[in-house]
Amino acid sequence: MYSSDEISYFNTIKTPFYYYKMEYFKNNLEKIKNAAGKYGYVVHYAMKANANDKLLGIIKDFGFGADCVSGNEVQKAIDLGFKPKEIAFAGVGKSDFEINLALDNDIFSFNCESIQELEIIDEFAAKKGKIAQIALRINPNVNANTHHYITTGLEENKFGINRWEFDKIIELLKSKKNIHLIGIHFHIGSQITDLDVFKNLCIRVNEIQKYFTENHILLEHINVGGGLGVDYEHPDKDDFPDFEAFFRLFDRFLELRSGQKLHFEIGRAMVAQAGDLITRVLFVKNGINTNFAIVDAGMTELIRPALYQAYHKIENITSKEGIDFYDVVGPICESSDTFGKTVQMTETKRGDLIAIRTIGAYGEVMASRYNLRDLAKSYYSDEIE
Ligand SMILES: *Cc1c(COP(=O)(O)O)cnc(C)c1O
Repeated sequence: MYSSDEISYFNTIKTPFYYYKMEYFKNNLEKIKNAAGKYGYVVHYAMKANANDKLLGIIKDFGFGADCVSGNEVQKAIDLGFKPKEIAFAGVGKSDFEINLALDNDIFSFNCESIQELEIIDEFAAKKGKIAQIALRINPNVNANTHHYITTGLEENKFGINRWEFDKIIELLKSKKNIHLIGIHFHIGSQITDLDVFKNLCIRVNEIQKYFTENHILLEHINVGGGLGVDYEHPDKDDFPDFEAFFRLFDRFLELRSGQKLHFEIGRAMVAQAGDLITRVLFVKNGINTNFAIVDAGMTELIRPALYQAYHKIENITSKEGIDFYDVVGPICESSDTFGKTVQMTETKRGDLIAIRTIGAYGEVMASRYNLRDLAKSYYSDEIE
């Protein structure tokens, strides 16, 4: 998995740290670009998955747009050279400051989630003498069959505009002169590995499109969001996710009207497999059922297991002998600070290096300084001395 050069390099730097495999990362971007390019689809990178400057710079150079969920993300995208006309701004709670920032930068689209938000953007745009491009984020009521904390497209979720509000919105749009409807937007959840879920989304989008056509509203853009999942069980498999199959499915099932552009906002699937969290074993002690391997990374570096009971593959990368079971836990004063229970690993002792795999998405970007810990640094395979 790692070369001996990499392991020697790891031994010279302070643990824990994030390690990004740049060749893998660029190959993955290439695959997405080619697969989407076949159909002329526009791919935005959902910046919230990982806002690391170096990765963002490469994503921008590949020609992807940005999907932002905060004013600071919009600002960062612009600072790093993403074109404002390729920036979508989503989020159920945009602050006044954030709306004004996005207006000042003439971004591609505000993805709006409530009637009140539409009214406020119109009011602020009028003050600046601008016309803001907006898309309606619609709640399609499609079950993403994923963890309930990362399901967003059901009527019970806080996200999006529900079907029963459409008539009122159409009326509102007629009277508001400083917002211009350019499209509709969806995002139904994350870590979706069953492509049938996206097929259901396509079917719902087709139905919703009919409503707009019947109301003589032409939508230039359809944005189906992100959510494509990765294989956390098999971090070294590189034929998954299957981007070809993913985009082909939309080509087959989503009925685009002529001149319409289809947009995607891919976060996790762009970056997840490119990164690992490398940590050192501090102590090993006996528990009732298994041993505890206490490592120097905690939920402060990777919160997904504590937050969503997420699975990450864990491997001892320096010990080759024996086999045993360990609860791999961090040093933070919380019982949820556990990366994995009864993890089978080679015989593990103080000083060994452990890799927690597939942390490129929602890893580094969710780091915190809880317990006043230092933020972990990032290292890159193409910068190894
Ligand atoms: C989080 C998010 C995404 C990206 O989701 P992934 O599952 O990481 O692909 C896309 N669009 C919106 C609006 C989001 O909030």
